[in-house]
Amino acid sequence: MSDFGRFDATRSPERPDANSTPPKSEIRNPKSLFCDVSLPVPLDQAFTYALPETLRHRVAPGCRVLAPFGTRRLTGVVLRTHDDPPEMEAREVLRLIDAQPVLDEELLALGKWIGAYYCAPLGEVLRGMLPLASEIRRGKIYSLTDAGRDATRQLLLDAAAEDPVAQVLRALESRPLSAAYLAKKLPLADKAIKSLEKRGFIFPEQVEEDRDPLRAPSERLRVELAGERPEVKMSKPERELVAFLELHPGTHNLKDLESAVRSASAAARSLGRKKVVILKREPMAISGVYAARTPHALNPPQQEAFAQIRDTIVSRQFRTFLLHGVTGSGKTEVYLSAIDTVLAAGRGALLLVPEIALTPAMAAQFFARFGDRVAILHSAFTDNERAEQWRKIRSGGAGVAVGTRSGVFAPVRNLGLIVVDEEHDQSYKQEETPRYNGRDVAIVRAKAAGACVVLGSATPSLESRYNAGRGKYTLLELPDRVEARPMPQVELIDMRVEFLETRRQATFSRRLLEAISFRLENGEQTMLLLNRRGFSSSVACRACGERVGCVNCSLSLTYHRRDRRMLCHYCNYAEKVPSRCPKCQSEHIYFLGMGSEKVEEELHRELPKARIARLDRDTVSGKRHYESILQNFREGHYDILVGTQMIAKGHDIPNVTLVGVISADIGLGMPDFRAAERTFQILTQMSGRAGRGNLPGVVLIQTISPDHYAVRLAGRQDYQAFYERELEFRRAMRYPPFSAMANLLVRSEKQEVAMRLSGELGQFLTPPPEQLKIMGPAEAPVPRLKNEYRYQFLIKAANRTVLNELLHRVRHYALDRKWGATALVIDVDPVTLM
Ligand code: ADP
Ligand code: ZN
Ligand code: ZN
Repeated sequence: MSDFGRFDATRSPERPDANSTPPKSEIRNPKSLFCDVSLPVPLDQAFTYALPETLRHRVAPGCRVLAPFGTRRLTGVVLRTHDDPPEMEAREVLRLIDAQPVLDEELLALGKWIGAYYCAPLGEVLRGMLPLASEIRRGKIYSLTDAGRDATRQLLLDAAAEDPVAQVLRALESRPLSAAYLAKKLPLADKAIKSLEKRGFIFPEQVEEDRDPLRAPSERLRVELAGERPEVKMSKPERELVAFLELHPGTHNLKDLESAVRSASAAARSLGRKKVVILKREPMAISGVYAARTPHALNPPQQEAFAQIRDTIVSRQFRTFLLHGVTGSGKTEVYLSAIDTVLAAGRGALLLVPEIALTPAMAAQFFARFGDRVAILHSAFTDNERAEQWRKIRSGGAGVAVGTRSGVFAPVRNLGLIVVDEEHDQSYKQEETPRYNGRDVAIVRAKAAGACVVLGSATPSLESRYNAGRGKYTLLELPDRVEARPMPQVELIDMRVEFLETRRQATFSRRLLEAISFRLENGEQTMLLLNRRGFSSSVACRACGERVGCVNCSLSLTYHRRDRRMLCHYCNYAEKVPSRCPKCQSEHIYFLGMGSEKVEEELHRELPKARIARLDRDTVSGKRHYESILQNFREGHYDILVGTQMIAKGHDIPNVTLVGVISADIGLGMPDFRAAERTFQILTQMSGRAGRGNLPGVVLIQTISPDHYAVRLAGRQDYQAFYERELEFRRAMRYPPFSAMANLLVRSEKQEVAMRLSGELGQFLTPPPEQLKIMGPAEAPVPRLKNEYRYQFLIKAANRTVLNELLHRVRHYALDRKWGATALVIDVDPVTLM
């Protein structure tokens, strides 16, 4: 492929026909002298910059520019262009980064809403909305400016043909060219380019360099026969590859071809150079053929739910549905039908899924159904890949975008539908500034776009279910599993009774071990959940009771046996297991509690023949690895999968007939008003993994608190009863959804500073405005984290406007007093209070 071809590929997105954006040379924005730029700094205002002559009609709201800020250069987003000179002399914008706005009006407005609602600086919000992490990208494209175009004719008349200036101008007259291309074709042009740039005749634009696809690893390449094939000499492997491709038309993953054709990879690359085959990068890190599955015919409850969604889509209304469907009820099929409807109406769709659920296997399902029309935004992708997907969405080349939390900002055109799968999932909440909740932002975005929202879950959050109850959302229910498959049969095992009867402090009850052995004999599979990784939960001294803690956090370290070290799960601090107690020098060190690593080991001892895999953050190094463990389990290479909550979500493995929960109690003791809700959710989701095929499933939950309502009602799989019970607790305590909540955190590496600042803030907040209840300052539940001391104010508000006003006042209070950039954290609608 020539430089030219590559350049074209980056400039005009995949489908020129679907791309209604005019070529860059035709874009003319009104000429403006100044622009207001939002920079990623923790300040509220935008900054005014002067526009150099060459940029005056190119810069539009939503474009990124590089601008001087103090001694730094920062990338910011243009909010507006205008001719009003600022009071102080404005510095000049250094460079325009995007020829077309990266944020359209709709997304700019959404960014402003997020800044206001979550009390976050706009510049930081906008930066978080863009997919291109690399601030300045390599690679330049040159084009003629107006002045350059005017001057060209005269210059060309005057100049000799071989004059580098003339050569550059002549080349650029027909179209913009990459710096790489110019350097290659016109080796002497370097100086000419510089001088033309200085005179404002040509204009460089930063674009992403598209790497030579021939150099990508095989699993990242797809290959197909070229339409017109040149007559070339071919080696034997090359002939074999061509023969194979002729027999199997279509595109193939290169890595997968290697098993079918000898030396396929080398042959394909050399044929690619000879233009006999076309090599393209995989749209994402997926290998294999996308087995297109015929859609299921919707069953009556699915049909009923879908009909309401369809009517909303067709009538182009904004409306939010809560699709409450038990595990295995076929929610996905409803989403897919809704997306079909939206596409048929010529509009776009956005599907959000929890972080852990967006695996290549799941993405492959979407490719199978929507082919080229789907783009996947995945954090495991390289910047280049993400940028490519993003451009495909913006150009209209992909009408369906699938992504995790930040996917809510995908520039889907003419948005008609947003689906939020597993809407209760915590990963929708971003735990750094801006601390937005992707689900809630989705609703705001849809409202502005006149689009339909579908929130789906087997265990809806209390907030969403409450909204459905009072008519703010429309409730759709799928009460049964598809094809009359029974719900799993859930049994609680009281571990206190087990102890009394066996006089043993065992990890596995007799009932659970029996059930696992039975599955082994029958060739069926088991999943075991333990919500804690590592080997033991902590290391302690028998003599003085000291627990070995993290040096940066007020938390104990977890013992990881395989690496022979203790690890902090919050800051990753690690140290060797001491041979003596650090406090009293006693040698009587012992290990408390248990983690997934220990469960795996004990299981090996109890069932030596079982093939056991473990899935937690220690065994999984990357997304691919995670997927390969799951894939191997799915294919039956293991009998038992042990894991943390990573295994609780969404996986559909038909041969799993037993699900065991080692301890239901781990999360219940958390100092968080959502502890019961979380426990109920994870137990229900986990139970949902059992019996998804034709064999019925059994769920065994070990617990020492079988009477706790979250455990008891999860055992009965009674969401409705849990919801009503939990709602009463929230109402009595004035927790959400009966109040709006915010968490203010004051942090400092020095304890006395954290204490003083929080004390002063406490004064500032006294007396609290009406309709607000402020608890604090108090030590946070984790008083020291990542080397910072933390004090907390919890605010409950009867009125959101009053809360929002107060939070903005607090932010300005901290800004005025020049608190350090990280000293104050404002978390609106917090999901964790640690
Ligand atoms: P959920 O997300 O509600 O837990 P899924 O959407 O994963 O459930 O569906 C569970 C299984 O049922 C999947 O294997 C899916 O292919 C299948 N399924 C969905 N709808 C139907 C249907 N109408 N008829 C038959 N099978 C279906
Ligand atoms: Zn000791
Ligand atoms: Zn730590």
